[in-house]
Amino acid sequence: MATDGTGTLWVAIVGAGPAGYYAAEAFTKGDTNVRVDIIDRLPTPFGLIRAGVAPDHQSIKNVSRRYTATNDRDNVRFVGNLELGRDISLDELKEFYDVVILATGASKDRPLGIDGENLDGVIGSAAFVGWYNSHPDFTHLNPDLRVASVAVIGNGNVAVDVARILAKTAHEMASSDLAEYAAKRIHSAPIKDIYILGRRGPLEAAFTPKELGELNAMENCVALVDGAQLPDAANDDDLTGATKKNMAALRQMALNLPEAKPVRLHIKFYRRPVAILGESSVCGIQLEETRVEDGKCIGTGNIETLPAGLVVPCIGYRTSPIEGVPYDEARGRFVNEDGRIDDQLYCVGWAQRGPTGTIGTNKADSVATAHKIMAEFSPSGKKGREGLDALAKERGLHIVTFAEWKKIDAAEVAAAHNGAPRAKFSDVDEMVQIAESPETS
Ligand code: NAP
Repeated sequence: MATDGTGTLWVAIVGAGPAGYYAAEAFTKGDTNVRVDIIDRLPTPFGLIRAGVAPDHQSIKNVSRRYTATNDRDNVRFVGNLELGRDISLDELKEFYDVVILATGASKDRPLGIDGENLDGVIGSAAFVGWYNSHPDFTHLNPDLRVASVAVIGNGNVAVDVARILAKTAHEMASSDLAEYAAKRIHSAPIKDIYILGRRGPLEAAFTPKELGELNAMENCVALVDGAQLPDAANDDDLTGATKKNMAALRQMALNLPEAKPVRLHIKFYRRPVAILGESSVCGIQLEETRVEDGKCIGTGNIETLPAGLVVPCIGYRTSPIEGVPYDEARGRFVNEDGRIDDQLYCVGWAQRGPTGTIGTNKADSVATAHKIMAEFSPSGKKGREGLDALAKERGLHIVTFAEWKKIDAAEVAAAHNGAPRAKFSDVDEMVQIAESPETS
Protein backbone atom coordinates (compact mmCIF):
# COMPACT_ATOMS: atom_id res chain seq x y z
CA MET A 1 0.00 0.00 0.00
CA ALA A 2 1.26 3.45 -0.82
CA THR A 3 1.54 5.39 2.39
CA ASP A 4 1.54 9.00 1.38
CA GLY A 5 2.47 11.61 -1.20
CA THR A 6 1.74 11.43 -4.88
CA GLY A 7 0.74 7.75 -4.83
CA THR A 8 -2.25 8.37 -2.61
CA LEU A 9 -5.79 9.23 -3.66
CA TRP A 10 -7.11 11.44 -0.88
CA VAL A 11 -10.85 11.27 -0.21
CA ALA A 12 -12.73 13.43 2.28
CA ILE A 13 -16.19 12.21 3.28
CA VAL A 14 -18.25 14.86 5.07
CA GLY A 15 -20.73 13.20 7.44
CA ALA A 16 -19.95 10.16 9.59
CA GLY A 17 -23.35 8.50 9.29
CA PRO A 18 -24.26 5.22 7.57
CA ALA A 19 -23.89 6.54 4.00
CA GLY A 20 -20.44 7.96 4.79
CA TYR A 21 -19.25 4.76 6.43
CA TYR A 22 -20.57 2.51 3.63
CA ALA A 23 -18.62 4.63 1.14
CA ALA A 24 -15.50 4.49 3.32
CA GLU A 25 -15.84 0.71 3.61
CA ALA A 26 -16.04 0.38 -0.17
CA PHE A 27 -12.83 2.40 -0.55
CA THR A 28 -10.99 0.30 2.03
CA LYS A 29 -12.00 -2.88 0.24
CA GLY A 30 -11.01 -1.46 -3.12
CA ASP A 31 -7.92 0.44 -4.12
CA THR A 32 -5.21 0.24 -1.46
CA ASN A 33 -3.86 3.63 -2.56
CA VAL A 34 -6.95 5.39 -1.24
CA ARG A 35 -6.96 7.16 2.10
CA VAL A 36 -10.22 8.37 3.56
CA ASP A 37 -10.91 11.03 6.17
CA ILE A 38 -14.49 10.94 7.50
CA ILE A 39 -15.27 14.40 8.79
CA ASP A 40 -18.13 15.17 11.17
CA ARG A 41 -19.17 18.39 12.85
CA LEU A 42 -19.93 16.44 16.05
CA PRO A 43 -17.27 14.76 18.22
CA THR A 44 -19.27 11.53 17.81
CA PRO A 45 -19.53 9.30 14.73
CA PHE A 46 -22.47 7.30 13.27
CA GLY A 47 -24.97 10.09 12.48
CA LEU A 48 -28.53 8.79 12.40
CA ILE A 49 -27.55 5.55 14.13
CA ARG A 50 -26.81 7.59 17.23
CA ALA A 51 -29.28 10.46 16.88
CA GLY A 52 -32.06 9.20 14.62
CA VAL A 53 -32.69 5.49 15.25
CA ALA A 54 -35.16 5.15 18.10
CA PRO A 55 -33.55 4.70 21.54
CA ASP A 56 -35.51 1.47 22.11
CA HIS A 57 -34.23 -0.04 18.84
CA GLN A 58 -30.81 -0.96 20.17
CA SER A 59 -30.37 -3.95 17.88
CA ILE A 60 -30.48 -1.64 14.82
CA LYS A 61 -27.70 0.41 16.41
CA ASN A 62 -25.43 -2.66 16.44
CA VAL A 63 -24.53 -1.83 12.84
CA SER A 64 -22.14 0.76 14.31
CA ARG A 65 -19.80 -2.19 15.02
CA ARG A 66 -19.39 -2.57 11.29
CA TYR A 67 -18.54 1.14 10.95
CA THR A 68 -16.07 0.82 13.84
CA ALA A 69 -14.36 -2.04 12.02
CA THR A 70 -14.06 0.20 8.94
CA ASN A 71 -12.64 2.98 11.05
CA ASP A 72 -10.13 0.62 12.67
CA ARG A 73 -8.49 0.10 9.25
CA ASP A 74 -5.37 2.18 8.84
CA ASN A 75 -6.48 3.89 5.64
CA VAL A 76 -9.58 5.42 7.28
CA ARG A 77 -9.57 8.22 9.84
CA PHE A 78 -12.43 9.86 11.76
CA VAL A 79 -12.11 13.63 12.01
CA GLY A 80 -14.70 14.70 14.57
CA ASN A 81 -15.66 18.16 15.79
CA LEU A 82 -14.80 19.80 12.45
CA GLU A 83 -17.63 21.62 10.72
CA LEU A 84 -17.69 22.34 7.01
CA GLY A 85 -18.54 26.00 6.57
CA ARG A 86 -17.59 26.94 10.15
CA ASP A 87 -14.09 25.51 10.60
CA ILE A 88 -13.12 24.75 7.03
CA SER A 89 -14.49 25.78 3.65
CA LEU A 90 -15.42 23.51 0.78
CA ASP A 91 -12.69 25.12 -1.34
CA GLU A 92 -10.11 24.30 1.33
CA LEU A 93 -11.26 20.67 1.44
CA LYS A 94 -11.04 20.50 -2.35
CA GLU A 95 -7.53 21.91 -2.16
CA PHE A 96 -6.36 19.14 0.20
CA TYR A 97 -8.32 16.17 -1.16
CA ASP A 98 -8.71 14.72 -4.65
CA VAL A 99 -12.40 14.06 -4.05
CA VAL A 100 -14.94 15.37 -1.52
CA ILE A 101 -18.07 13.31 -0.85
CA LEU A 102 -21.02 14.91 0.95
CA ALA A 103 -22.74 12.36 3.19
CA THR A 104 -24.51 14.98 5.23
CA GLY A 105 -27.93 13.30 5.33
CA ALA A 106 -31.15 15.28 5.65
CA SER A 107 -31.34 17.03 8.97
CA LYS A 108 -34.00 19.68 8.37
CA ASP A 109 -37.74 19.20 8.72
CA ARG A 110 -39.87 19.58 5.63
CA PRO A 111 -42.39 22.37 6.24
CA LEU A 112 -46.10 21.55 6.34
CA GLY A 113 -46.96 24.84 4.64
CA ILE A 114 -50.14 25.48 6.64
CA ASP A 115 -51.24 28.22 9.06
CA GLY A 116 -50.06 27.82 12.62
CA GLU A 117 -47.02 25.66 11.96
CA ASN A 118 -44.76 28.15 13.76
CA LEU A 119 -46.78 28.13 17.01
CA ASP A 120 -45.09 27.00 20.21
CA GLY A 121 -45.70 23.31 20.65
CA VAL A 122 -45.36 22.46 16.93
CA ILE A 123 -42.08 20.59 16.74
CA GLY A 124 -40.87 18.81 13.62
CA SER A 125 -39.57 15.29 13.94
CA ALA A 126 -35.95 16.25 13.21
CA ALA A 127 -35.95 18.42 16.33
CA PHE A 128 -38.15 16.17 18.47
CA VAL A 129 -36.25 12.96 17.67
CA GLY A 130 -32.94 14.83 18.09
CA TRP A 131 -34.14 16.00 21.52
CA TYR A 132 -34.98 12.58 22.91
CA ASN A 133 -31.84 11.14 21.31
CA SER A 134 -29.45 13.64 23.01
CA HIS A 135 -28.42 15.43 19.81
CA PRO A 136 -26.43 18.52 20.93
CA ASP A 137 -28.48 20.79 18.63
CA PHE A 138 -31.72 19.93 20.41
CA THR A 139 -30.81 19.31 24.05
CA HIS A 140 -32.34 22.65 25.03
CA LEU A 141 -35.59 22.20 23.10
CA ASN A 142 -37.54 21.69 26.36
CA PRO A 143 -40.85 20.71 24.75
CA ASP A 144 -43.83 21.34 26.99
CA LEU A 145 -45.31 17.88 27.46
CA ARG A 146 -47.84 18.93 30.11
CA VAL A 147 -50.53 18.12 27.59
CA ALA A 148 -53.38 15.63 27.39
CA SER A 149 -53.34 15.11 23.66
CA VAL A 150 -50.63 14.90 20.98
CA ALA A 151 -51.01 14.89 17.18
CA VAL A 152 -48.29 13.11 15.20
CA ILE A 153 -48.61 13.91 11.49
CA GLY A 154 -47.52 11.36 8.89
CA ASN A 155 -47.80 7.64 8.27
CA GLY A 156 -44.11 6.75 8.09
CA ASN A 157 -41.80 4.97 10.50
CA VAL A 158 -40.70 8.24 12.09
CA ALA A 159 -44.31 8.97 13.08
CA VAL A 160 -44.52 5.47 14.55
CA ASP A 161 -41.23 6.01 16.44
CA VAL A 162 -42.36 9.34 17.91
CA ALA A 163 -45.75 8.00 19.00
CA ARG A 164 -44.17 4.90 20.57
CA ILE A 165 -41.50 6.84 22.48
CA LEU A 166 -44.22 9.10 23.91
CA ALA A 167 -46.41 6.12 24.82
CA LYS A 168 -43.98 3.66 26.33
CA THR A 169 -43.47 3.54 30.09
CA ALA A 170 -40.22 4.13 32.00
CA HIS A 171 -40.13 0.38 32.57
CA GLU A 172 -40.40 -0.35 28.83
CA MET A 173 -37.67 2.21 28.08
CA ALA A 174 -35.26 1.03 30.80
CA SER A 175 -33.03 -0.84 28.36
CA SER A 176 -32.94 2.08 25.90
CA ASP A 177 -30.59 5.04 25.61
CA LEU A 178 -33.39 7.61 25.77
CA ALA A 179 -31.89 10.91 27.00
CA GLU A 180 -32.37 11.11 30.76
CA TYR A 181 -33.77 14.65 30.59
CA ALA A 182 -36.30 13.49 27.98
CA ALA A 183 -37.25 10.42 30.01
CA LYS A 184 -38.07 12.61 33.03
CA ARG A 185 -40.36 14.79 30.96
CA ILE A 186 -42.01 12.03 28.93
CA HIS A 187 -42.66 9.69 31.82
CA SER A 188 -44.27 12.38 33.99
CA ALA A 189 -46.38 13.79 31.14
CA PRO A 190 -50.18 13.55 31.55
CA ILE A 191 -50.67 12.46 27.91
CA LYS A 192 -53.83 10.42 27.45
CA ASP A 193 -54.43 10.51 23.70
CA ILE A 194 -51.91 10.29 20.88
CA TYR A 195 -53.08 10.58 17.27
CA ILE A 196 -51.13 9.32 14.26
CA LEU A 197 -52.64 11.11 11.28
CA GLY A 198 -52.34 9.90 7.70
CA ARG A 199 -53.48 12.02 4.79
CA ARG A 200 -54.05 8.88 2.71
CA GLY A 201 -55.31 5.42 3.62
CA PRO A 202 -53.94 2.23 5.19
CA LEU A 203 -52.93 0.82 1.78
CA GLU A 204 -50.77 3.87 1.09
CA ALA A 205 -49.14 4.06 4.55
CA ALA A 206 -45.32 4.11 4.54
CA PHE A 207 -44.72 2.44 7.90
CA THR A 208 -43.40 -1.14 7.98
CA PRO A 209 -45.06 -4.14 9.65
CA LYS A 210 -42.54 -4.72 12.43
CA GLU A 211 -42.69 -1.08 13.50
CA LEU A 212 -46.50 -0.97 13.24
CA GLY A 213 -46.80 -4.22 15.21
CA GLU A 214 -44.84 -2.72 18.11
CA LEU A 215 -47.67 -0.23 18.60
CA ASN A 216 -49.97 -3.12 19.47
CA ALA A 217 -47.72 -4.45 22.21
CA MET A 218 -47.27 -1.58 24.63
CA GLU A 219 -47.70 -1.85 28.39
CA ASN A 220 -49.83 1.22 29.11
CA CYS A 221 -51.11 2.26 25.72
CA VAL A 222 -53.72 0.69 23.46
CA ALA A 223 -53.58 1.20 19.69
CA LEU A 224 -56.97 1.95 18.13
CA VAL A 225 -58.10 1.96 14.51
CA ASP A 226 -61.59 2.61 13.22
CA GLY A 227 -62.45 -0.59 11.35
CA ALA A 228 -64.61 1.45 8.96
CA GLN A 229 -61.41 3.09 7.62
CA LEU A 230 -59.96 -0.29 6.60
CA PRO A 231 -60.70 -1.73 3.14
CA ASP A 232 -63.00 -4.70 2.71
CA ALA A 233 -61.38 -7.72 4.42
CA ALA A 234 -62.57 -9.91 1.52
CA ASN A 235 -59.75 -8.40 -0.58
CA ASP A 236 -56.95 -9.02 1.94
CA ASP A 237 -55.82 -12.16 0.08
CA ASP A 238 -54.94 -9.99 -2.92
CA LEU A 239 -52.53 -7.94 -0.83
CA THR A 240 -48.83 -8.75 -0.72
CA GLY A 241 -45.70 -7.98 1.29
CA ALA A 242 -45.66 -5.18 3.82
CA THR A 243 -49.17 -3.97 2.93
CA LYS A 244 -50.64 -7.38 3.71
CA LYS A 245 -48.82 -7.55 7.06
CA ASN A 246 -49.75 -3.96 7.92
CA MET A 247 -53.38 -4.76 7.19
CA ALA A 248 -53.30 -7.76 9.52
CA ALA A 249 -51.88 -5.59 12.33
CA LEU A 250 -54.42 -2.83 11.70
CA ARG A 251 -57.31 -5.33 11.77
CA GLN A 252 -56.12 -6.52 15.20
CA MET A 253 -55.99 -2.93 16.42
CA ALA A 254 -59.53 -2.36 15.18
CA LEU A 255 -60.66 -4.97 17.72
CA ASN A 256 -59.00 -3.20 20.67
CA LEU A 257 -61.11 -1.40 23.25
CA PRO A 258 -60.32 2.22 24.22
CA GLU A 259 -60.65 1.47 27.93
CA ALA A 260 -58.18 -1.45 27.76
CA LYS A 261 -55.23 0.72 28.84
CA PRO A 262 -54.78 4.19 30.38
CA VAL A 263 -53.32 5.79 27.22
CA ARG A 264 -54.90 5.60 23.76
CA LEU A 265 -53.06 5.73 20.44
CA HIS A 266 -55.50 6.52 17.65
CA ILE A 267 -54.34 5.77 14.10
CA LYS A 268 -56.55 7.90 11.88
CA PHE A 269 -56.38 7.72 8.10
CA TYR A 270 -57.80 10.03 5.43
CA ARG A 271 -57.12 13.19 7.42
CA ARG A 272 -55.01 15.98 5.99
CA PRO A 273 -53.90 18.83 8.22
CA VAL A 274 -55.21 22.20 6.99
CA ALA A 275 -54.38 24.49 9.94
CA ILE A 276 -52.79 24.35 13.36
CA LEU A 277 -54.79 26.27 15.94
CA GLY A 278 -53.72 28.41 18.89
CA GLU A 279 -52.85 31.94 20.05
CA SER A 280 -49.15 31.61 20.83
CA SER A 281 -49.12 27.89 21.67
CA VAL A 282 -50.89 25.13 19.84
CA CYS A 283 -54.26 23.97 21.20
CA GLY A 284 -55.55 21.94 18.28
CA ILE A 285 -55.33 20.93 14.68
CA GLN A 286 -57.83 21.27 11.89
CA LEU A 287 -58.10 18.30 9.57
CA GLU A 288 -59.85 17.83 6.28
CA GLU A 289 -61.31 14.43 5.54
CA THR A 290 -59.88 12.99 2.32
CA ARG A 291 -60.41 10.15 -0.08
CA VAL A 292 -57.79 8.51 -2.29
CA GLU A 293 -58.12 8.37 -6.07
CA ASP A 294 -55.35 6.82 -8.18
CA GLY A 295 -53.11 7.04 -5.13
CA LYS A 296 -53.75 10.78 -4.77
CA CYS A 297 -55.24 12.42 -1.72
CA ILE A 298 -58.39 14.43 -2.53
CA GLY A 299 -60.02 16.73 0.00
CA THR A 300 -63.77 16.22 0.67
CA GLY A 301 -64.31 19.62 2.28
CA ASN A 302 -65.39 18.01 5.58
CA ILE A 303 -63.38 19.64 8.37
CA GLU A 304 -62.89 18.41 11.93
CA THR A 305 -60.88 19.80 14.83
CA LEU A 306 -58.77 17.68 17.12
CA PRO A 307 -57.48 19.02 20.44
CA ALA A 308 -53.68 18.84 20.70
CA GLY A 309 -51.20 20.51 23.03
CA LEU A 310 -48.27 19.18 21.01
CA VAL A 311 -48.07 18.62 17.26
CA VAL A 312 -45.16 16.67 15.79
CA PRO A 313 -45.07 16.72 11.97
CA CYS A 314 -43.17 13.61 10.80
CA ILE A 315 -43.49 14.28 7.10
CA GLY A 316 -39.93 13.83 5.87
CA TYR A 317 -36.68 15.76 5.80
CA ARG A 318 -34.52 18.04 3.68
CA THR A 319 -30.75 18.13 3.30
CA SER A 320 -29.15 21.26 4.74
CA PRO A 321 -27.84 23.41 1.88
CA ILE A 322 -24.10 24.09 1.75
CA GLU A 323 -22.77 27.33 0.29
CA GLY A 324 -21.46 26.79 -3.21
CA VAL A 325 -23.21 23.43 -3.72
CA PRO A 326 -26.13 23.40 -6.20
CA TYR A 327 -29.36 22.62 -4.34
CA ASP A 328 -32.63 21.17 -5.61
CA GLU A 329 -35.24 23.15 -3.63
CA ALA A 330 -38.15 21.01 -4.76
CA ARG A 331 -36.54 17.75 -3.69
CA GLY A 332 -34.61 19.12 -0.71
CA ARG A 333 -31.28 17.60 -1.73
CA PHE A 334 -28.15 18.40 -3.71
CA VAL A 335 -28.40 18.57 -7.48
CA ASN A 336 -26.49 15.49 -8.63
CA GLU A 337 -26.30 12.88 -11.32
CA ASP A 338 -25.97 9.45 -9.72
CA GLY A 339 -24.01 11.07 -6.92
CA ARG A 340 -21.81 13.34 -9.04
CA ILE A 341 -22.17 17.06 -8.28
CA ASP A 342 -19.09 18.36 -10.10
CA ASP A 343 -15.63 17.16 -11.16
CA GLN A 344 -14.40 16.90 -7.59
CA LEU A 345 -17.60 16.79 -5.56
CA TYR A 346 -19.96 13.84 -4.98
CA CYS A 347 -22.81 13.01 -2.62
CA VAL A 348 -24.20 9.79 -1.18
CA GLY A 349 -27.14 8.64 0.96
CA TRP A 350 -30.03 10.96 1.76
CA ALA A 351 -28.01 13.96 0.52
CA GLN A 352 -27.97 12.23 -2.89
CA ARG A 353 -31.41 10.65 -3.22
CA GLY A 354 -33.59 12.19 -0.51
CA PRO A 355 -34.77 10.82 2.85
CA THR A 356 -35.98 7.35 1.93
CA GLY A 357 -35.13 3.83 2.91
CA THR A 358 -33.68 2.08 5.91
CA ILE A 359 -30.05 2.20 7.09
CA GLY A 360 -28.96 -0.55 4.69
CA THR A 361 -30.59 1.17 1.70
CA ASN A 362 -27.72 3.66 1.82
CA LYS A 363 -25.17 1.00 1.03
CA ALA A 364 -25.83 0.57 -2.68
CA ASP A 365 -25.35 4.18 -3.77
CA SER A 366 -22.39 4.69 -1.44
CA VAL A 367 -20.64 1.62 -2.85
CA ALA A 368 -21.48 2.59 -6.45
CA THR A 369 -20.15 6.11 -5.92
CA ALA A 370 -16.93 4.86 -4.31
CA HIS A 371 -16.36 2.39 -7.16
CA LYS A 372 -16.95 5.08 -9.77
CA ILE A 373 -14.44 7.36 -8.05
CA MET A 374 -11.83 4.59 -7.79
CA ALA A 375 -12.28 3.82 -11.49
CA GLU A 376 -12.10 7.43 -12.67
CA PHE A 377 -9.64 9.18 -10.37
CA SER A 378 -5.88 8.98 -10.02
CA PRO A 379 -3.77 10.48 -7.26
CA SER A 380 -2.78 14.03 -8.09
CA GLY A 381 -0.28 14.83 -5.35
CA LYS A 382 -2.72 16.53 -2.98
CA LYS A 383 -1.65 17.16 0.61
CA GLY A 384 -4.52 15.19 2.15
CA ARG A 385 -4.40 14.77 5.91
CA GLU A 386 -1.21 16.76 6.27
CA GLY A 387 -2.93 19.82 4.80
CA LEU A 388 -6.04 19.42 6.94
CA ASP A 389 -4.07 18.88 10.15
CA ALA A 390 -1.87 21.93 9.51
CA LEU A 391 -4.94 24.08 8.92
CA ALA A 392 -6.66 22.76 12.08
CA LYS A 393 -3.51 23.51 14.09
CA GLU A 394 -3.24 27.00 12.66
CA ARG A 395 -6.91 27.68 13.57
CA GLY A 396 -6.60 26.14 17.06
CA LEU A 397 -9.26 23.50 16.32
CA HIS A 398 -9.53 20.33 18.38
CA ILE A 399 -10.12 17.49 16.00
CA VAL A 400 -11.62 14.51 17.84
CA THR A 401 -10.03 11.25 16.66
CA PHE A 402 -11.64 7.80 16.65
CA ALA A 403 -9.50 6.79 19.65
CA GLU A 404 -10.86 9.85 21.47
CA TRP A 405 -14.43 8.94 20.46
CA LYS A 406 -13.78 5.54 22.05
CA LYS A 407 -13.04 7.39 25.31
CA ILE A 408 -16.36 9.25 25.05
CA ASP A 409 -18.08 5.96 24.25
CA ALA A 410 -16.52 4.24 27.28
CA ALA A 411 -17.51 7.14 29.55
CA GLU A 412 -21.12 6.95 28.31
CA VAL A 413 -21.26 3.21 28.91
CA ALA A 414 -19.73 3.65 32.39
CA ALA A 415 -22.31 6.34 33.27
CA ALA A 416 -25.31 4.14 32.34
CA HIS A 417 -27.60 2.77 35.05
CA ASN A 418 -30.85 0.82 35.53
CA GLY A 419 -30.16 -1.43 32.55
CA ALA A 420 -29.54 1.32 29.98
CA PRO A 421 -26.76 0.60 27.47
CA ARG A 422 -25.30 4.11 27.85
CA ALA A 423 -26.02 7.56 29.23
CA LYS A 424 -25.33 9.78 26.24
CA PHE A 425 -23.55 13.09 26.54
CA SER A 426 -25.27 15.86 24.68
CA ASP A 427 -22.90 18.74 25.25
CA VAL A 428 -20.11 19.17 22.70
CA ASP A 429 -17.72 20.92 25.12
CA GLU A 430 -18.16 18.17 27.68
CA MET A 431 -17.42 15.54 25.03
CA VAL A 432 -14.34 17.40 23.81
CA GLN A 433 -13.10 17.61 27.41
CA ILE A 434 -13.44 13.85 27.77
CA ALA A 435 -11.68 13.41 24.43
CA GLU A 436 -8.78 15.56 25.68
CA SER A 437 -8.57 13.90 29.10
CA PRO A 438 -5.69 11.47 29.74
CA GLU A 439 -6.45 7.70 29.49
CA THR A 440 -7.73 6.46 32.85
CA SER A 441 -7.43 2.70 32.61
P1 NAP B 1 -41.74 8.64 5.06
O1 NAP B 1 -41.63 7.18 5.20
O2 NAP B 1 -41.51 9.23 3.73
O3 NAP B 1 -43.19 9.07 5.59
C1 NAP B 1 -43.61 10.41 5.54
C2 NAP B 1 -45.10 10.47 5.79
O4 NAP B 1 -45.47 11.84 5.86
C3 NAP B 1 -45.95 9.83 4.71
O5 NAP B 1 -47.02 9.14 5.32
C4 NAP B 1 -46.47 11.04 3.93
O6 NAP B 1 -47.73 10.84 3.34
C5 NAP B 1 -46.62 12.04 5.04
N1 NAP B 1 -46.63 13.42 4.57
C6 NAP B 1 -45.74 14.03 3.77
N2 NAP B 1 -46.09 15.32 3.58
C7 NAP B 1 -47.25 15.51 4.26
C8 NAP B 1 -48.11 16.62 4.47
N3 NAP B 1 -47.84 17.80 3.91
N4 NAP B 1 -49.20 16.46 5.25
C9 NAP B 1 -49.47 15.26 5.81
N5 NAP B 1 -48.70 14.17 5.66
C10 NAP B 1 -47.59 14.29 4.91
O7 NAP B 1 -40.72 9.43 6.01
P2 NAP B 1 -40.21 9.19 7.50
O8 NAP B 1 -41.24 8.57 8.36
O9 NAP B 1 -39.64 10.52 7.87
O10 NAP B 1 -39.03 8.17 7.33
C11 NAP B 1 -37.89 8.46 6.49
C12 NAP B 1 -37.22 7.14 6.11
O11 NAP B 1 -36.59 6.58 7.26
C13 NAP B 1 -38.21 6.12 5.62
O12 NAP B 1 -37.66 5.40 4.55
C14 NAP B 1 -38.41 5.24 6.82
O13 NAP B 1 -38.82 3.91 6.53
C15 NAP B 1 -37.02 5.27 7.44
N6 NAP B 1 -37.12 4.93 8.87
C16 NAP B 1 -37.01 3.62 9.20
C17 NAP B 1 -37.15 3.25 10.52
C18 NAP B 1 -37.04 1.78 10.87
O14 NAP B 1 -36.70 0.99 10.01
N7 NAP B 1 -37.33 1.38 12.09
C19 NAP B 1 -37.39 4.18 11.51
C20 NAP B 1 -37.50 5.53 11.14
C21 NAP B 1 -37.37 5.89 9.80
P3 NAP B 1 -47.85 10.48 1.78
O15 NAP B 1 -47.44 9.05 1.68
O16 NAP B 1 -49.29 10.73 1.49
O17 NAP B 1 -46.91 11.41 1.04
